Amino acid sequence: MRKIIVAIDGYSACGKSTTAKEVAKVLGFRYIDSGAMYRAVTLYFLEHHISLTNPREVDKTLAQIKISFQVNRKGKTETFLNGVIVEKEIRDMRVSEYVSQVSTLAPVRHAMVEQQRRMGKERAIVMDGRDIGTVVFPDSELKLFLTADVLVRAFRRQKELLDRDEMIDIDTIIENLLKRDEIDSTRLESPLRKAKDAIEIDTTYITIDEEVEEVIRLALGRMLERKK
Ligand code: C5P
Repeated sequence: MRKIIVAIDGYSACGKSTTAKEVAKVLGFRYIDSGAMYRAVTLYFLEHHISLTNPREVDKTLAQIKISFQVNRKGKTETFLNGVIVEKEIRDMRVSEYVSQVSTLAPVRHAMVEQQRRMGKERAIVMDGRDIGTVVFPDSELKLFLTADVLVRAFRRQKELLDRDEMIDIDTIIENLLKRDEIDSTRLESPLRKAKDAIEIDTTYITIDEEVEEVIRLALGRMLERKK
């Protein structure tokens, strides 16, 4: 069967990564969490007190950052920053609070997009993010745009944080999600937008299993189409 690229974009906490991971597993594709890359850069910027308003410092810093992914023994993809696992740290609230600001910077985006395109060279990947269908892989065979009611998104995110023993009140989470959506959709460099040829899926009232099933059905359809 033909190898395709599945691009999943959408607002924060719409279930993009959970869906992408499951779909990649079923199809035997590689999963790439582009948000984890922006989060890893943000963690580095925070830890090294890098000023976002100093372009020379930003460029110098980007040259020092190497992000990679490795699949662990349980089959879970983990993020590495300069060879050190940062999977847990990049999900901390302090990173969530800063990541959208870091992601507005053109040099940061250019460096990430270049790496993402290299990772997708062999196709057979599922990548989720904000600009995958519009900027990173505008030629991807299947583009999806996920949406969901903000309250549902906030409860899902709260559960994820609780699972890792971080208790954050729902209002703080809603505020963070809305703030990130606003910055992500209004930035000048590759803003979050639905690609013209993307299929929109509202995940408010559907379960993850239903969502995954729908995406697999669409992906298989595209793979078969390509074979003809
Ligand atoms: O997907 P996740 O919520 O982990 O992404 C964290 C942040 O990284 C987003 O809010 C956005 O600011 C940024 N991001 C981006 N472009 C992507 C993926 C993530 O700007 N392709």
